[in-house]
Amino acid sequence: KETLDKGLEKTKDSFFSKLGRAVVGKSTVDEEVLDELENVLISSDVGVETTVKIIRQIEERVARDKYVGTDELDRILREEIATLLSANNSIDVPEDFGLPANKKPYVIMVVGVNGVGKTTTIGKLAAQFHKRGLKVVLGAGDTFRAAAVDQLKLWGERVGVPVISHGMNTDPSAVAFDAVKKGVDMDADVVIIDTAGRLHTKVNLMNELTKIKRVMQKVTPDAPHEVLLVLDGSTGQNAFIQATEFTKATEVSALAITKLDGTAKGGVVIGISDQFKIPVKYIGVGEKIDDLQTFNKIEFVDSFFK
Ligand code: GDP
Repeated sequence: KETLDKGLEKTKDSFFSKLGRAVVGKSTVDEEVLDELENVLISSDVGVETTVKIIRQIEERVARDKYVGTDELDRILREEIATLLSANNSIDVPEDFGLPANKKPYVIMVVGVNGVGKTTTIGKLAAQFHKRGLKVVLGAGDTFRAAAVDQLKLWGERVGVPVISHGMNTDPSAVAFDAVKKGVDMDADVVIIDTAGRLHTKVNLMNELTKIKRVMQKVTPDAPHEVLLVLDGSTGQNAFIQATEFTKATEVSALAITKLDGTAKGGVVIGISDQFKIPVKYIGVGEKIDDLQTFNKIEFVDSFFK
């Protein structure tokens, strides 16, 4: 929780200083304050659609209650944001990750563009699963980048888990097949498979991901159990664009939003979760292994409004 507080500090400070300026000298939430609030939300990268939704909710309250003081704005915003996050994050990931017992190995296919923190997220996840006594296998399916494969191998050595990798530019679906196979053979709990993060044409991306899925299903018919899209929270609107592209290319079931510690644009978590109706499962709030946290909507809102 402390890490989370610290990780969201920049977003929070920026948000509340802007909000403070927006209501200065005002005692009631009037149209002018709402306009300013709209700007504040948009500049925190909550996204236009979600901002409009939040503003509308507050407008309704103002209309209903006749008088809403600016001193109540914090509380009202907090309630609205909590409601939004609750609607789209029906699963609360328990701290022990709570993997379903009937899906073993639990296969996670990780997607996202280069540079968002995909490899690091896989490494951190592997370390945390391993620490909880779970058997992990990694698949270096980003066969287009030597650096990605090397980095994943390094994580494997550091954590002490096997990494399946083939040569450069080989078919990533073969890596996925072997990784899932290895997971089954060694009775692993989790298999995490990296994929190439080139945002090439939509059709190529779709074909590639579809093929990886199809091939791993030859080993485990219901794999992947999770398609985890990694987004860099500090890229604001780019994260929205990437989410749009990837959700078109494949069925994304969970999100990891990284680098929230380095940005004032943490509102992106609220907007993306609302707009795409995909649960945020993990957030990255720093470089250390434990800085990748399971997303808890209540704690998130708490850290934000503390
Ligand atoms: P990939 O290209 O998507 O595989 O990205 P990498 O995993 O190589 O990560 C790119 C950089 O982002 C690395 O320097 C990571 O240490 C850094 N990074 C990843 N997640 C976080 C995070 O939550 N916070 C911070 N501050 N840095 C992160």
